[in-house]
This record gives sequence, structure tokens and C-alpha cells, in this order.
Amino acid sequence: MGFKSDIEIAQEATPQDIREIAKKLGLTEDDLDLYGKYKAKVDYNLLKKSTGKKARLILTTAINPTPAGEGKTTTTIGVADGLSRIGKNTLVALREPSLGPVFGVKGGAAGGGYAQVVPMEDINLHFTGDFHAIGAANNLLAAMLDNHIKQGNELKIDAKKITWRRCVDMNDRQLRNIVDGLGGSGDGVVREDGFDITVASEVMAAFCLSSDISDLKERLGRIIVAYSFTGEPVTAEQLKANGAMAALLKDALKPNLVQTLEGTPAFIHGGPFANIAHGCNSVIATRMAMHFADYVVTEGGFGADLGAEKFLDIKCRMANLKPDAVIIVATVRALKYNGGVAKADLNNENLEALKAGLPNLLKHVENITQVFKLPAVVAINEFPLDTEAELQLVKSECQKLGVNVAISQVWAKGGEGGEELAKEVVRLIDESEGNFEYCYDLDIPIKEKIETIATRIYGADGVDFTPAAAKEMDRLTALGFDKVPICMAKTQYSLTDDATKLGRPTGFKITVRQLTISAGAGFIIALTGEIMKMPGLPKVPAAEKIDVDENGVIAGLF
Ligand code: ADP
Ligand code: MG
Repeated sequence: MGFKSDIEIAQEATPQDIREIAKKLGLTEDDLDLYGKYKAKVDYNLLKKSTGKKARLILTTAINPTPAGEGKTTTTIGVADGLSRIGKNTLVALREPSLGPVFGVKGGAAGGGYAQVVPMEDINLHFTGDFHAIGAANNLLAAMLDNHIKQGNELKIDAKKITWRRCVDMNDRQLRNIVDGLGGSGDGVVREDGFDITVASEVMAAFCLSSDISDLKERLGRIIVAYSFTGEPVTAEQLKANGAMAALLKDALKPNLVQTLEGTPAFIHGGPFANIAHGCNSVIATRMAMHFADYVVTEGGFGADLGAEKFLDIKCRMANLKPDAVIIVATVRALKYNGGVAKADLNNENLEALKAGLPNLLKHVENITQVFKLPAVVAINEFPLDTEAELQLVKSECQKLGVNVAISQVWAKGGEGGEELAKEVVRLIDESEGNFEYCYDLDIPIKEKIETIATRIYGADGVDFTPAAAKEMDRLTALGFDKVPICMAKTQYSLTDDATKLGRPTGFKITVRQLTISAGAGFIIALTGEIMKMPGLPKVPAAEKIDVDENGVIAGLF
């Protein structure tokens, strides 16, 4: 079957001038910082000027995926185009892609097929420079920290207890563990160090949760970079770094306006990791989208056990956002995968395995409707190799159980293929009352918060804490950090902390191995396994196929 690649489809499109897109939001050229013809930054200070709008907020999430991804971004874009087609004033809010995955295995993150945001090459390849600004802010803090030690170390920083690392937006395992500060007495202080990928920097998480530049400055100031010889946290504010860091981020903090292939406006802004951070676009972009449209569709990274939980318990709580509906993306292949089919056999029709995988989907539906009390609809993201029998089986099984469901053909047909889903979303919103609740309260102890997430969301019997995690829990409580939300770092492939346990496992516990505080972002990270903060490239990196010609036309991005 000859399908056009994502980049071919994107390059055939004729995008509108971004000023025309901005007009749909009631914005004039004065409100825009133009980055060429198809990209613009929009000043968040416009939030202060009332538009009289209060958009409905729709979250797209997914069942536990296969390693290939199940199409959350694609569905988010396609359903937004579907909403536009049925006459709703709609905006998309998405994360910015990181160069790591673009050049590694995953490729781009601007949607797929006929549900994409454009210009996809720019969006995927450092866009308006936000991530470089975030890297620069991160690295300024690192430079000021090491300089402080070199210049007499007034804060008595224990160089063995430095937690702040340098960063770069690249998959580069060579930098994961390094020794720096080599040389003579005029050079730095020798120590073990390392780089993280920029999207894993706490600056990224704090940036994405900030409501404005003052809030950003305060969050940056609270970042803990090291501990002193007596065990006291040392912050960016004590190093007097947060003002300059925020100065570097002043333009980055303005959301980037682009468009879908069908001309629906889209804000693409910020992109924190979904494991050690909360995994969704900036609060500012979501708020701005809600300020200018009637319907806003956004995405949370990974499956619903992580992405939706963190979107709802961390981002919505901090930003005081009340979502109106949740789309849970399911694919025939992920259902078969959860039903025990090996990766290599996912393209063969297998109705039994499909049925066996359904409990995974149903658990996520239950979580959204019963824990968070939000209306949910399952979007079956149709792939070219899905059979009619498979698609109809998922649909009828959902209907039998009273689960709202729609088949989505946005990858093949764009907004037209998203109309059924769009109508279902509108119906759900119109008919539901809005009883949104968080999964846990902030004022219960750290241990109880983690146990609540594990038992209610994952279906676990409980949580084991390693001695190291238990000790850190006591220390963070003593330091007064116990009233913040929990950011779970767990595999996305399973409801458990073991990637091989598929479907809807029961009778298990999860193990929390370590806790760390992101005081700037404002959450505690609970690590259930090894989390890679600086990925490496695969044997054949996607970068090998990417090229550009003398007209600046990019090829090989997918
Ligand atoms: P997620 O946001 O869940 O990680 P994406 O929307 O980025 O997933 O999609 C992952 C990959 O799958 C992309 O390369 C996209 O083009 C492809 N894809 C998504 N939906 C479909 C579909 N219905 N048919 C074929 N390919 C698809
Ligand atoms: Mg995505």
C-alpha cells in the first residue's frame, strides 16, 4: 500500500498566512511577534484583557500503548479539525517536540497523516528556539553554581551533593556521566557531573507550570541545586540566578501560534518529559487557548494512568483548570498488544486477543469517569491494517458496557474523519454536569498520596517503599515539602511498574525506589524504576535519513 509520508502530506499543503489564523482568534498583527510567515508568538499579557470567553477544555489521553505510540497527538489535531468543521471555534494546545526523539527513533511529534500541525519541519526542528532558551537558562544556573564554589563557596555547598546538571536538547549518551572542571588552579573544580536532555530539565517543568513571568521567576528561584555540608537545600535564588534565568526566557514564555493542515489555530508550547515531569504543554498556552476559543483540545503524554492523572492532578490543580471531557485513544494494535500478542504479529487480525486487551481500556475509562468524575469517550484510532471486524468488535463491546465510543479516521481523512468524534465530544460536554474531582488531596502525607494513586489509578494492592525512598520521604516531610502533588515516574506500557505486565493486572504492588523534589516545578517525583534523563541514539538514528536541499526543503523527517 502506498501511503504518503507525513512530511509529503505536510509539504503539499498550502498553509494560510499566520496573520489570517490569528484573525480567527480576534488577534491583530499588533498582538503577534512574527517568526516568518507561518509562525508567531503571542504575548501572554493578552490574558489580562477579557475576551468574554471561557472555553471547554478537552483532554486527549490513551490506553497503555505499544512502543510505536497510539496516536494521541494525531487524534488531538484531527478532532480539533472535526470540531472546526462542525462550526465550533476551536484551538489546539500541544507540546513542542524535542530534538532527541526527532533524530532518534520516534521521529516528529506534529501529528500524522492528514491530522498534522504545520510547518511540521520547523515545529520538529527547533521551532522558535524555546528549548534552546530553556537550555541556556538551565546552563546559566549550572555555571553560576560551579562559579560560586570556585569563588569561595560562601553557601558551603557540598560538591558531592550537587543535584543540578547541565543540559542539551539532543540524545547524547556520551554526556550522561562526565568528569568536568579539569585543568590547573585557574580552571574549575574537578567533579563528577553529567548532562540531561533539555526536556528533562526542571527549568522546563517550571516553565510549563508558570502562570506569568513573575511566577516563573519565583519557581526558578525555588529550584534546589545542591545541599550544603550540613544538609540544607541550596536554591537558585540563593545563587541570585533566577532573575537572569527568567530574562533568558522572556520570549520563550510566549506561546507559539501555528495551524493545522485545515487551518485550525494551534498553540505549541513547552514540552516536559512525561515521566520525571508532568508531560503536557505550558499552562500559559492552555490558558491562552481557552481565552480565545470556545473549544480547546490538548494532550497529556503516555497512557491515561500517567498522562491524564498528572494533567488532572498536577497541571489542572496548579492552574485551576476544570476540564470538560476526556478522549481516550485506543487502537486495535494496542488492544491486541494488551491482549498478549507479540509486537511482530500485531498486524494480523485477532479478535480473541482484541477482546482480551479490552479490560486495559476499560480500567482507564473507569478511572476517568469514576475517580476524576469526568465524561469520557473512547476514540478508536483507525489504522490502515485494521479489519472491519476488529473495529466493529471494539465498538460493540464498548457500547455493550455503556462506554461512549467513536471511530476516528483523522489520520486518513483529516477533520472529516474526526467529525463523528467531535460531535460525540460536544454531546458529552452538553449533557454532563462537571463534577471534576482530583484523585487525592494535597494535605495528606506523601506516602498516602502515592498509595492513593497506586490503588485508585493503577489498581494496585499497595506500595512498597525501599529504605532509601522511605528515608527521603521523612527528610522531604521535615523540610516542609509534603504538601505538593506527586509526579509518578513509571513505565507507560503497563498499569503496574513492570512493562511486561499487560492488560489489567490485579494482585500486584508497585515499588517506589526513590523520591526527589522538584521544588521549582512544585512536585515530588516518585521513581518506580530507572528513569533515563539523557537518552542515547539507536543503531540507525532517524537523523541518517534527514536532509535539506538548496531551497531549504527538508526531506526524511517523519
Ligand atoms: P502519540 O501522541 O500517542 O505518541 P502520535 O499521534 O504522535 O502518537 O502518533 C504516533 C505515530 O503513529 C505517528 O508517526 C503517526 O503518524 C502514526 N499514526 C497515528 N495514527 C495513525 C493511524 N490512524 N494510522 C497510521 N499511522 C498513525
Ligand atoms: Mg504525542
